[in-house]
Formats: sequence, structure tokens, C-alpha cells
Amino acid sequence: MSKQLVILGAGESGASAARLGKREGYAVFVSDAGVGSETYLAELREAGIEFETGSHSHHRILQADIVVKSPGIPDTAGIVKTILQAGIPVISEIELAYRFVPTDSTIVGITGSNGKTTTTMLTHHLLQAAGERVLAGGNLGDSFARLLVDHEPQDIYVLELSSFQLDGTVDFRPDIATILNITPDHLDRYNYQLEKYADSKFRIGRRQRKEDHLLLLDDPQTIAPALRRNKVDATISLIDPETAIDGTRIAVDGHEYELKESPLRGRHNAMNALFAVRIARLLGVSQEEIQIALESFVPAPHRMEVIPTHDGRTWINDSKATNVDSTYFALEAMDGPTVWIAGGTDKGNDYAPLREVLDGKVHTLICLGADNEKLKKAFGDIDRVVECRSAERAVELASEYAAAGDRILLSPACASFDLFKNYVDRGDQFRAHVKRIVA
Ligand code: ADP
Repeated sequence: MSKQLVILGAGESGASAARLGKREGYAVFVSDAGVGSETYLAELREAGIEFETGSHSHHRILQADIVVKSPGIPDTAGIVKTILQAGIPVISEIELAYRFVPTDSTIVGITGSNGKTTTTMLTHHLLQAAGERVLAGGNLGDSFARLLVDHEPQDIYVLELSSFQLDGTVDFRPDIATILNITPDHLDRYNYQLEKYADSKFRIGRRQRKEDHLLLLDDPQTIAPALRRNKVDATISLIDPETAIDGTRIAVDGHEYELKESPLRGRHNAMNALFAVRIARLLGVSQEEIQIALESFVPAPHRMEVIPTHDGRTWINDSKATNVDSTYFALEAMDGPTVWIAGGTDKGNDYAPLREVLDGKVHTLICLGADNEKLKKAFGDIDRVVECRSAERAVELASEYAAAGDRILLSPACASFDLFKNYVDRGDQFRAHVKRIVA
């Protein structure tokens, strides 16, 4: 009889894991306690995979030999506890896909609190420009399982990995793993303990061996103590943030690369480039190819995205900045008078670190959130602090208060769910109103 695979959650990772499981000979059942997304339910139907929505049928789920859990479902969910109590292994879709990846392919895993998407896309771009057969996915775009079911086998897979995805790994072993940085985020899922969150990131290197590489930010605050706590056998490279020289040049193994002609803006992106370039070098890409490819990189939207306008001011959409650390780097990258648009759902933020990067630059703060009290309290001394509840109004106010030559930065440091569907919706609305009102 076929082995039973049960998938919890019918989203991108669930639907593709189900198809991969079926391809590999499992009897697959998908269970989603919510309504499910029509796109993915249609995919399951078409693949002839049995599913349920609206509730979890315990008796059916408990027949599983193995369960794949969506990264969005916490371990504390009742159904997960029941499955674990029954002794059934629960893994993530990343782990499942890893078990079926072509054995001769190279796996690059990228995690961190901020910069994952940018670094994953840049690494993919550097490798692709050098002619490698490579795909990127995981936490961005196509899930790892989808890369396997919908594409030809590749030589290299570059995977963006969230801590939730890493939590469900067992044998997953990337040839090259990176931890870009560790700063407070998602602590609600880690008992409000930064150590627990950091250790979850370190799972990326748990199975690595001496011949594998682990690239870590040289950071005495969070990475160094986590490195002491976690056993690592891989060859470690510590990446010195100082080699991201003033955000416009980077030095890797003694060779300097110019970023002036590249769209990577700010010191944080130079740091991301340090990692991507190091990975490309480990995989044999030449310095010349890397320099050329750095300039043709197209970053993902909503990350320090400059919206083209003709009004003599610089409008920047950094809607993806949903925590304090990412906004820190955005404000740091501002090199003149700035109108800053911030706010949204506060994740227990401590705004104090932002002081040093906004003083002398930010003359107006536009609070764009349902509840702005905390933000107003933290920054009450900025020349002008105003509030609004729509992206449209924020753009109108910014346009009124920003002088010629100013920067207008949407970098919220907060999640978006109070007023918007998600950070994409927030950034899209902002861009659309900028184009309509000022462009
Ligand atoms: P992630 O996928 O980890 O969320 P992104 O590349 O999507 O990372 O960037 C998320 C936000 O963090 C953006 O606002 C971006 O400008 C900022 N950011 C990017 N790289 C870094 C970094 N190395 N350190 C801090 N913030 C960063």
C-alpha cells in the first residue's frame, strides 16, 4: 500500500508539496481549516488530489505516515499537537522537496531577518548571467516543491528560507548556507525570545559538513552568541559589514566591486551584495562577470524602489520595511531633507534605534496607521507630525510638505494589516497615487 502523506494548508507550498508527493508515489490528502484559495484548490483538483476545506478531519489526518505543515501554522495549533502526540513526523515543504531534489544539484539556502529576497534574487541573477542552469524560489515566488514539479532539473537551486520553513527541516543540507543578519522579528512565534528565533535560523546549517559553506554576518550582538550555542561543522566565512564600503563599493576576497551603476541602494543592499558575490565566487563565477551582472540587476518592487517622477523630488517605496531594522537602513540611506511616511500594525517595536539616523534629515513624519499613538510619542519632537489613514492622503500630504530636492520615503517599520491587505497592497497604492498626483 502507498504511504500516506497529509498536507496541512492548501497554499503555494501545500499545493506544490501535494503534487510532488503524488509524483513520488504517496497517497496524498490535503486539509485546510480555512476556505482555501481557489487557485490552489483548482490545482489540486486538476492533479486529482483529494482535499478538504473548512475543518480538519482528525481520523483521516491521523492515518498519515508523514505530515507536511504550511509555514503559517504554528506548532501550538491544536491539530499539530494532536499529530505530534500520535507520533507522526511533521516536516516543512522545504524538507519534503529536499528529499526529492536531483542528488547532483547544488543547493544554496539564504536566511536572515532582512534582505533575504534581495540576496536570493541577486545571487540567482549573478549565476544566471554567468550561464548557470539555476532557479530561485522557496519563500519567494515558486516554492521549492514547485521548482521540482513544474521545471526541468537544474544544476543550482537558490532558496530563500524563513525561520518557519527552517523549523520543519530534518535532513535539509544546503551546500552553501547564509545567515544575513538576525534582528528582532516574529518573536510572537518564539516565546518572545530572540535566542529561540536565532537558533531557528541556525537550523540552516545543522546538517552541513566540513565541505559545505556557512556564510555569517560578523555580528557580535546576535550571530556570535548563536554560533557558540549551535554546533556547526561547515566551513564558516564571517562577512565583515565594514567591507560594504560606504554603500557604494564592496570588497570580497580583496577585490573591489563598484555598486554606483547598480540599482542596489543603501548600505544594507551593499551588505546583501557581499553575500551574493561571495556565493557566486564560491560557485566559480569570475570577478568580471560579477561586476557586469551587478549593474544589470533588477530589484524586487517595494524595497527602496524609486518611483520615477518629474517633480524634482525623490519618491521611494520601501513598503516591505515591516520592522525597525529595515527602516533603519532606509533612513540611513537618505542623504538630504526627508519626509518619512511610517506606521501600521506595531509588532512590539522599539523605535529608539531610529533616532540616530533621522536626526537632521526627517523634517516631517506622516503617520499612516489606524493607531499612531506610539509613533507620535516616539517622534513628537520632529518639526511636523501629521496623521492620515489612506495611502492617497499620505501622498497628498507628502506632496504638500516636501520641497524641491527632498526625498519622500515610505518605510513603515510596521506590518500593514490595519489599513491594507498586505505590504504589496500598501506599496502598490502608494506608487499609484504618486503617479496620479505628482508624476
Ligand atoms: P526579506 O525577504 O528578508 O524580507 P527583502 O530583501 O525583501 O528582505 O527586504 C525587506 C526590507 O528590508 C526592505 O525594506 C529592504 O529595504 C530592507 N533590507 C534589505 N536588506 C537588508 C539588510 N541586509 N539589512 C536590513 N534591512 C534590509
